[in-house]
Amino acid sequence: MMVIMKPGHTREQFEDVMNRIKEEGLEGHPIVGVERTVIGVVGLDRLHPELADDLEVMPGVDTTVQISSPYKLSSREFKRDDTVVAVGPARIGEGTVTVIAGPCAVESEEQLMATARAVKQHGASLLRGGAFKPRTSPYGFRGLEEDGLKLLQQASRETGLPVVTEVMSENTVDLVARYADVLQIGTRNAQNFFLLEEAARTGKPVLLKRGMSSSVQDWLLAAEYILNKGNRDVILCERGIRTFETATRNTMDINAIPLVKELSHLPIIADPSHGTGKMKLVEPVCLGMVAAGADGLILEVHPTPEKALCDGAQSLTFDAFASVMASTAKVAHAIGKRMEREAAVTA
Ligand code: PEP
Ligand code: MN
Repeated sequence: MMVIMKPGHTREQFEDVMNRIKEEGLEGHPIVGVERTVIGVVGLDRLHPELADDLEVMPGVDTTVQISSPYKLSSREFKRDDTVVAVGPARIGEGTVTVIAGPCAVESEEQLMATARAVKQHGASLLRGGAFKPRTSPYGFRGLEEDGLKLLQQASRETGLPVVTEVMSENTVDLVARYADVLQIGTRNAQNFFLLEEAARTGKPVLLKRGMSSSVQDWLLAAEYILNKGNRDVILCERGIRTFETATRNTMDINAIPLVKELSHLPIIADPSHGTGKMKLVEPVCLGMVAAGADGLILEVHPTPEKALCDGAQSLTFDAFASVMASTAKVAHAIGKRMEREAAVTA
Protein backbone atom coordinates (compact mmCIF):
# COMPACT_ATOMS: atom_id res chain seq x y z
CA MET A 1 0.00 0.00 0.00
CA MET A 2 0.98 3.65 -0.30
CA VAL A 3 0.59 6.12 2.52
CA ILE A 4 0.08 9.59 1.08
CA MET A 5 1.08 12.35 3.47
CA LYS A 6 -0.79 15.66 3.59
CA PRO A 7 0.94 18.65 2.02
CA GLY A 8 2.70 20.55 4.78
CA HIS A 9 2.98 17.57 7.14
CA THR A 10 5.71 17.86 9.77
CA ARG A 11 8.93 15.88 10.02
CA GLU A 12 7.68 14.45 13.33
CA GLN A 13 4.42 13.24 11.78
CA PHE A 14 6.39 11.55 9.01
CA GLU A 15 8.70 9.86 11.55
CA ASP A 16 5.67 8.69 13.58
CA VAL A 17 4.22 7.01 10.49
CA MET A 18 7.57 5.38 9.64
CA ASN A 19 7.85 4.09 13.22
CA ARG A 20 4.31 2.74 13.18
CA ILE A 21 5.13 0.80 9.99
CA LYS A 22 8.31 -0.52 11.58
CA GLU A 23 6.43 -1.67 14.68
CA GLU A 24 4.42 -3.96 12.41
CA GLY A 25 7.66 -5.47 11.17
CA LEU A 26 7.19 -3.87 7.76
CA GLU A 27 9.46 -1.70 5.67
CA GLY A 28 8.55 1.89 4.74
CA HIS A 29 10.01 3.20 1.47
CA PRO A 30 9.54 7.00 1.33
CA ILE A 31 9.55 9.12 -1.79
CA VAL A 32 9.74 12.80 -1.06
CA GLY A 33 8.41 14.54 -4.15
CA VAL A 34 7.86 18.22 -4.89
CA GLU A 35 4.09 17.86 -4.65
CA ARG A 36 3.68 15.03 -2.18
CA THR A 37 5.41 12.60 0.13
CA VAL A 38 4.45 8.98 -0.36
CA ILE A 39 5.54 6.02 1.76
CA GLY A 40 5.42 2.61 0.13
CA VAL A 41 4.63 -0.17 2.60
CA VAL A 42 5.41 -3.61 1.32
CA GLY A 43 5.31 -6.98 2.98
CA LEU A 44 2.64 -9.47 3.85
CA ASP A 45 -0.28 -7.02 3.93
CA ARG A 46 -2.77 -9.70 4.79
CA LEU A 47 -1.08 -10.16 8.16
CA HIS A 48 -1.89 -6.53 8.96
CA PRO A 49 -5.55 -6.08 7.99
CA GLU A 50 -6.12 -3.04 10.24
CA LEU A 51 -2.96 -1.18 9.34
CA ALA A 52 -4.40 0.96 6.52
CA ASP A 53 -7.22 2.18 8.80
CA ASP A 54 -4.78 2.86 11.64
CA LEU A 55 -2.41 4.84 9.42
CA GLU A 56 -5.19 6.89 7.84
CA VAL A 57 -6.14 8.47 11.15
CA MET A 58 -2.60 9.43 12.09
CA PRO A 59 -1.81 13.17 12.06
CA GLY A 60 -0.25 14.31 8.79
CA VAL A 61 -1.63 11.38 6.78
CA ASP A 62 -3.93 12.22 3.88
CA THR A 63 -4.94 8.75 2.74
CA THR A 64 -3.76 5.22 1.93
CA VAL A 65 -4.03 3.59 -1.47
CA GLN A 66 -3.54 -0.06 -2.39
CA ILE A 67 -1.14 -0.72 -5.29
CA SER A 68 -3.02 -3.02 -7.65
CA SER A 69 -0.06 -4.61 -9.47
CA PRO A 70 1.88 -7.48 -7.86
CA TYR A 71 5.08 -5.45 -8.15
CA LYS A 72 4.87 -2.42 -5.89
CA LEU A 73 8.02 -0.30 -5.60
CA SER A 74 8.81 -0.69 -9.29
CA SER A 75 5.33 0.43 -10.36
CA ARG A 76 4.28 3.78 -11.79
CA GLU A 77 1.41 3.73 -9.31
CA PHE A 78 3.95 4.03 -6.49
CA LYS A 79 6.24 6.55 -8.19
CA ARG A 80 4.95 8.75 -10.99
CA ASP A 81 8.21 10.43 -11.93
CA ASP A 82 10.87 8.65 -13.95
CA THR A 83 13.78 7.30 -11.94
CA VAL A 84 17.14 8.62 -13.09
CA VAL A 85 20.15 6.45 -12.25
CA ALA A 86 23.34 8.48 -11.89
CA VAL A 87 26.64 6.70 -12.52
CA GLY A 88 29.60 9.06 -12.43
CA PRO A 89 28.78 11.73 -15.00
CA ALA A 90 26.14 9.55 -16.72
CA ARG A 91 22.45 9.94 -15.97
CA ILE A 92 20.37 7.05 -17.24
CA GLY A 93 16.70 7.75 -17.77
CA GLU A 94 16.82 11.53 -17.87
CA GLY A 95 15.51 11.84 -21.41
CA THR A 96 18.73 11.25 -23.34
CA VAL A 97 20.08 8.10 -25.01
CA THR A 98 22.88 6.64 -22.89
CA VAL A 99 25.17 4.16 -24.62
CA ILE A 100 27.10 1.45 -22.77
CA ALA A 101 29.65 -0.26 -25.00
CA GLY A 102 32.61 -2.59 -24.87
CA PRO A 103 33.58 -6.18 -25.49
CA CYS A 104 31.47 -9.14 -24.47
CA ALA A 105 34.40 -10.44 -22.44
CA VAL A 106 37.58 -8.79 -21.25
CA GLU A 107 40.26 -10.81 -23.08
CA SER A 108 43.50 -8.86 -22.72
CA GLU A 109 44.87 -5.44 -21.82
CA GLU A 110 45.37 -4.60 -25.46
CA GLN A 111 41.87 -5.64 -26.52
CA LEU A 112 40.16 -3.82 -23.66
CA MET A 113 42.14 -0.59 -23.79
CA ALA A 114 41.73 -0.24 -27.55
CA THR A 115 37.99 -0.87 -27.27
CA ALA A 116 37.53 1.47 -24.31
CA ARG A 117 39.29 4.30 -26.18
CA ALA A 118 37.25 3.70 -29.33
CA VAL A 119 33.85 3.61 -27.61
CA LYS A 120 34.74 6.70 -25.61
CA GLN A 121 35.79 8.52 -28.77
CA HIS A 122 32.51 7.71 -30.53
CA GLY A 123 30.21 8.75 -27.68
CA ALA A 124 29.67 5.88 -25.23
CA SER A 125 28.94 6.98 -21.66
CA LEU A 126 29.87 3.73 -19.92
CA LEU A 127 32.21 0.83 -20.61
CA ARG A 128 30.98 -2.76 -20.52
CA GLY A 129 33.01 -5.97 -20.38
CA GLY A 130 32.57 -9.35 -18.73
CA ALA A 131 35.19 -10.71 -16.32
CA PHE A 132 32.92 -13.54 -15.14
CA LYS A 133 31.18 -14.98 -18.19
CA PRO A 134 28.11 -17.22 -18.01
CA ARG A 135 28.78 -19.68 -20.83
CA THR A 136 26.25 -22.19 -22.06
CA SER A 137 29.07 -24.72 -22.41
CA PRO A 138 31.66 -25.20 -19.65
CA TYR A 139 34.27 -25.44 -22.42
CA GLY A 140 33.75 -21.82 -23.56
CA PHE A 141 36.00 -18.93 -22.42
CA ARG A 142 34.71 -18.13 -18.95
CA GLY A 143 36.49 -14.85 -18.34
CA LEU A 144 39.65 -13.52 -16.68
CA GLU A 145 37.88 -13.09 -13.33
CA GLU A 146 39.72 -10.69 -10.97
CA ASP A 147 42.42 -9.95 -13.54
CA GLY A 148 39.63 -8.89 -15.88
CA LEU A 149 38.13 -6.64 -13.21
CA LYS A 150 41.54 -4.99 -12.73
CA LEU A 151 41.78 -4.32 -16.46
CA LEU A 152 38.30 -2.77 -16.41
CA GLN A 153 39.40 -0.50 -13.59
CA GLN A 154 42.49 0.50 -15.54
CA ALA A 155 40.41 1.27 -18.65
CA SER A 156 37.95 3.24 -16.56
CA ARG A 157 40.74 5.31 -15.00
CA GLU A 158 42.20 6.12 -18.39
CA THR A 159 38.97 6.95 -20.20
CA GLY A 160 36.84 8.24 -17.33
CA LEU A 161 34.05 5.84 -18.36
CA PRO A 162 32.29 4.07 -15.48
CA VAL A 163 32.27 0.27 -15.72
CA VAL A 164 29.35 -2.15 -16.07
CA THR A 165 30.24 -5.79 -15.46
CA GLU A 166 28.36 -8.98 -14.68
CA VAL A 167 28.20 -10.65 -11.30
CA MET A 168 27.19 -14.29 -11.41
CA SER A 169 27.26 -15.57 -7.87
CA GLU A 170 26.54 -14.39 -4.36
CA ASN A 171 30.06 -15.20 -3.19
CA THR A 172 31.66 -12.87 -5.77
CA VAL A 173 29.35 -9.89 -5.23
CA ASP A 174 31.79 -8.05 -2.94
CA LEU A 175 34.74 -8.73 -5.22
CA VAL A 176 32.93 -7.48 -8.33
CA ALA A 177 31.50 -4.48 -6.45
CA ARG A 178 35.05 -3.38 -5.50
CA TYR A 179 35.80 -2.73 -9.18
CA ALA A 180 32.42 -2.13 -10.85
CA ASP A 181 30.34 1.03 -10.99
CA VAL A 182 27.25 -0.91 -12.09
CA LEU A 183 26.57 -4.60 -11.34
CA GLN A 184 25.02 -6.45 -14.25
CA ILE A 185 22.69 -9.37 -13.56
CA GLY A 186 22.57 -11.52 -16.67
CA THR A 187 19.59 -13.20 -18.26
CA ARG A 188 20.49 -16.58 -16.75
CA ASN A 189 20.42 -15.16 -13.23
CA ALA A 190 17.50 -12.79 -13.69
CA GLN A 191 15.44 -14.77 -11.17
CA ASN A 192 18.26 -15.77 -8.84
CA PHE A 193 16.61 -13.94 -5.99
CA PHE A 194 19.38 -14.31 -3.39
CA LEU A 195 21.88 -12.94 -5.90
CA LEU A 196 19.58 -10.00 -6.63
CA GLU A 197 19.38 -9.20 -2.92
CA GLU A 198 23.13 -9.51 -2.43
CA ALA A 199 23.78 -7.23 -5.40
CA ALA A 200 21.26 -4.72 -4.01
CA ARG A 201 23.03 -4.70 -0.67
CA THR A 202 26.22 -3.24 -2.18
CA GLY A 203 24.34 0.00 -2.92
CA LYS A 204 25.75 0.01 -6.46
CA PRO A 205 23.34 0.52 -9.36
CA VAL A 206 22.12 -2.79 -10.77
CA LEU A 207 21.57 -3.40 -14.48
CA LEU A 208 18.93 -6.13 -14.56
CA LYS A 209 18.66 -8.03 -17.82
CA ARG A 210 15.35 -9.62 -18.67
CA GLY A 211 15.33 -13.37 -18.11
CA MET A 212 15.19 -15.14 -21.46
CA SER A 213 11.89 -16.72 -20.41
CA SER A 214 10.65 -13.96 -18.12
CA SER A 215 7.37 -12.21 -18.72
CA VAL A 216 7.37 -8.45 -18.14
CA GLN A 217 5.68 -9.13 -14.81
CA ASP A 218 8.37 -11.66 -13.76
CA TRP A 219 10.99 -9.10 -14.67
CA LEU A 220 9.42 -6.25 -12.68
CA LEU A 221 9.03 -8.61 -9.71
CA ALA A 222 12.74 -9.43 -10.00
CA ALA A 223 13.46 -5.68 -9.88
CA GLU A 224 11.26 -5.56 -6.79
CA TYR A 225 13.74 -7.80 -4.94
CA ILE A 226 16.41 -5.12 -5.43
CA LEU A 227 14.18 -2.15 -4.62
CA ASN A 228 12.82 -3.86 -1.53
CA LYS A 229 16.38 -4.01 -0.13
CA GLY A 230 16.46 -0.22 -0.29
CA ASN A 231 18.51 0.04 -3.48
CA ARG A 232 16.62 2.35 -5.85
CA ASP A 233 19.13 2.33 -8.69
CA VAL A 234 17.81 -0.33 -11.01
CA ILE A 235 18.25 -0.14 -14.78
CA LEU A 236 16.16 -2.64 -16.75
CA CYS A 237 17.56 -4.12 -19.95
CA GLU A 238 15.56 -5.83 -22.70
CA ARG A 239 17.95 -8.36 -24.29
CA GLY A 240 15.60 -10.54 -26.29
CA ILE A 241 13.56 -13.55 -25.28
CA ARG A 242 13.41 -17.18 -26.35
CA THR A 243 10.72 -17.96 -28.91
CA PHE A 244 10.22 -20.61 -31.60
CA GLU A 245 12.32 -18.49 -33.97
CA THR A 246 15.78 -19.91 -34.60
CA ALA A 247 16.94 -17.57 -37.38
CA THR A 248 18.16 -15.07 -34.79
CA ARG A 249 19.75 -15.70 -31.39
CA ASN A 250 16.76 -14.24 -29.53
CA THR A 251 13.58 -12.36 -30.35
CA MET A 252 13.88 -8.70 -29.44
CA ASP A 253 10.68 -7.67 -27.69
CA ILE A 254 10.20 -4.08 -28.81
CA ASN A 255 6.79 -4.07 -27.11
CA ALA A 256 8.51 -4.27 -23.75
CA ILE A 257 10.02 -0.78 -24.10
CA PRO A 258 6.84 1.33 -24.20
CA LEU A 259 5.00 -1.17 -22.00
CA VAL A 260 7.59 -1.03 -19.20
CA LYS A 261 7.67 2.77 -19.51
CA GLU A 262 3.95 2.77 -18.79
CA LEU A 263 4.04 0.21 -15.96
CA SER A 264 7.24 1.32 -14.24
CA HIS A 265 9.25 4.44 -13.41
CA LEU A 266 12.56 2.58 -13.87
CA PRO A 267 14.84 3.39 -16.81
CA ILE A 268 14.95 0.75 -19.54
CA ILE A 269 17.72 0.19 -22.06
CA ALA A 270 18.02 -2.29 -24.94
CA ASP A 271 20.68 -4.82 -25.89
CA PRO A 272 20.45 -5.43 -29.64
CA SER A 273 23.73 -7.39 -29.58
CA HIS A 274 22.25 -10.29 -27.59
CA GLY A 275 18.76 -9.54 -28.91
CA THR A 276 19.78 -10.37 -32.47
CA GLY A 277 23.08 -12.28 -32.24
CA LYS A 278 23.99 -10.88 -35.66
CA MET A 279 26.24 -7.91 -36.24
CA LYS A 280 24.32 -6.77 -39.34
CA LEU A 281 21.04 -6.61 -37.44
CA VAL A 282 22.39 -4.59 -34.55
CA GLU A 283 22.16 -1.15 -36.19
CA PRO A 284 18.54 -1.34 -37.47
CA VAL A 285 17.37 -2.84 -34.18
CA CYS A 286 19.11 -0.04 -32.23
CA LEU A 287 17.12 2.46 -34.25
CA GLY A 288 13.84 0.69 -33.52
CA MET A 289 14.47 0.38 -29.81
CA VAL A 290 15.43 4.04 -29.46
CA ALA A 291 12.40 5.09 -31.54
CA ALA A 292 10.23 3.03 -29.17
CA GLY A 293 11.55 5.01 -26.21
CA ALA A 294 14.55 3.12 -24.83
CA ASP A 295 16.67 5.22 -22.46
CA GLY A 296 19.84 3.74 -23.83
CA LEU A 297 21.65 0.88 -25.51
CA ILE A 298 24.23 -1.66 -24.43
CA LEU A 299 26.40 -2.82 -27.30
CA GLU A 300 29.21 -5.30 -27.84
CA VAL A 301 32.25 -3.89 -29.63
CA HIS A 302 35.51 -5.68 -30.44
CA PRO A 303 38.70 -4.64 -32.31
CA THR A 304 38.60 -7.89 -34.33
CA PRO A 305 35.19 -9.59 -33.96
CA GLU A 306 36.32 -12.58 -36.02
CA LYS A 307 38.90 -13.34 -33.32
CA ALA A 308 36.68 -12.68 -30.29
CA LEU A 309 36.64 -15.35 -27.58
CA CYS A 310 32.96 -14.71 -26.95
CA ASP A 311 30.06 -13.38 -29.06
CA GLY A 312 32.13 -12.31 -32.08
CA ALA A 313 29.19 -12.80 -34.48
CA GLN A 314 27.25 -10.00 -32.83
CA SER A 315 30.15 -7.67 -32.02
CA LEU A 316 30.58 -4.37 -33.84
CA THR A 317 33.91 -3.22 -35.20
CA PHE A 318 34.98 0.29 -34.15
CA ASP A 319 33.81 1.70 -37.51
CA ALA A 320 30.47 -0.10 -37.28
CA PHE A 321 30.04 1.27 -33.76
CA ALA A 322 30.69 4.82 -35.00
CA SER A 323 28.06 4.29 -37.69
CA VAL A 324 25.50 2.95 -35.19
CA MET A 325 26.09 6.00 -32.98
CA ALA A 326 25.58 8.40 -35.88
CA SER A 327 22.36 6.80 -37.12
CA THR A 328 21.02 6.37 -33.58
CA ALA A 329 21.60 10.08 -33.00
CA LYS A 330 19.38 10.86 -36.00
CA VAL A 331 16.53 8.79 -34.60
CA ALA A 332 17.05 10.33 -31.16
CA HIS A 333 16.76 13.80 -32.71
CA ALA A 334 13.66 12.80 -34.67
CA ILE A 335 11.87 11.99 -31.41
CA GLY A 336 13.15 15.07 -29.59
CA LYS A 337 15.98 13.43 -27.64
CA ARG A 338 19.75 13.79 -27.65
CA MET A 339 22.56 11.32 -27.22
CA GLU A 340 23.99 11.62 -23.72
CA ARG A 341 27.46 12.44 -25.12
CA GLU A 342 26.12 14.19 -28.18
CA ALA A 343 29.28 16.17 -28.89
CA ALA A 344 31.33 12.99 -29.37
CA VAL A 345 28.99 11.50 -31.97
CA THR A 346 30.16 12.31 -35.46
CA ALA A 347 27.65 12.32 -38.30
C1 PEP B 1 26.44 -10.21 -21.75
O1 PEP B 1 26.01 -9.07 -21.60
O2 PEP B 1 27.57 -10.45 -22.20
C2 PEP B 1 25.55 -11.34 -21.45
C3 PEP B 1 26.03 -12.55 -21.10
O3 PEP B 1 24.26 -11.02 -21.57
P1 PEP B 1 22.92 -11.88 -21.32
O4 PEP B 1 22.90 -12.19 -19.86
O5 PEP B 1 21.84 -10.94 -21.75
O6 PEP B 1 23.00 -13.09 -22.19
MN1 MN C 1 27.93 -11.31 -24.81
